[in-house]
Amino acid sequence: MQRFTDIVSLREGVAAWRANGETVGFVPTMGALHEGHLTLVDEAKKRCNRVVVSIFVNPKQFGPNEDFNRYPRVVEEDAAKLATRHADALYLPTVDIMYPKGFNTAVHVGGVTEGLCGAARPGHFNGVATVVTKLLLQVMPDKAFFGEKDYQQLRTIQHLVHDLDLPVYIVPVPTAREQDGLALSSRNQYLSAHERTIAPTLYQTLQDCASRIRSGDPINRVLDGAKTHLLSKGFTKVDYLELCHNATLAKLAEYVPHHSRLLVAAFLGQTRLIDNIDV
Ligand code: AMP
Repeated sequence: MQRFTDIVSLREGVAAWRANGETVGFVPTMGALHEGHLTLVDEAKKRCNRVVVSIFVNPKQFGPNEDFNRYPRVVEEDAAKLATRHADALYLPTVDIMYPKGFNTAVHVGGVTEGLCGAARPGHFNGVATVVTKLLLQVMPDKAFFGEKDYQQLRTIQHLVHDLDLPVYIVPVPTAREQDGLALSSRNQYLSAHERTIAPTLYQTLQDCASRIRSGDPINRVLDGAKTHLLSKGFTKVDYLELCHNATLAKLAEYVPHHSRLLVAAFLGQTRLIDNIDV
């Protein structure tokens, strides 16, 4: 597996593949890789001749009181995992490369970024949209792979690629889960042993809400009951639990078959967990 730490050598590496007629897949990450990230790599390997994975803990997408400083950084472990999945290149830009002195541009996507995590984490999606735009323009892949685990992020990126005519196809990948249903996340390692036993309640609650909504129970009653249930099980705060249109992410007051997605964000102690499912 090749390693690139600057844009010029990355572009030379990608250009050499292209000169051979090979297609390029791209998986952007913040590292601390788990099986969820690695399923994106597997999917990219299936669909493209070459796969570039980036690891960059993007300061612009963390709020002032969030976990940027304590976010896990384990590049050598990550590199070993990527090698076992036959990734072709690891791109490791530094903060100075991504945001050199004088950097003063931001990408803002409207609409889909406004509610949910956008409301709870001001500035987060500007940070995401800005870094993903830069990474896509640096790597210039044919296809880029994003997890449904971060559903609002996926929709934001699909929007920006469409609106800015970026020549890349965005491939969504279903959420990888632990056996007990907990969505894999780099942040799960913050959970204490006790919190870890409570965490699967998030997915169970989503499934329970979905079946009640499908069977016609009133949305508000279902969602209010579910929030109370999460708090009674040990979650400390529910940022949101909403039924949304799966493309616009507008809040739905009624169930729309084939277009309804349930999304949740809740704190277990200091750790903020998110999840979502198709209804
Ligand atoms: P992150 O490192 O958290 O920024 O995530 C990098 C990519 O991996 C994003 O596209 C995420 O949506 C995706 N991802 C993270 N966790 C999972 C998961 N459990 N299943 C599928 N994709 C995931």
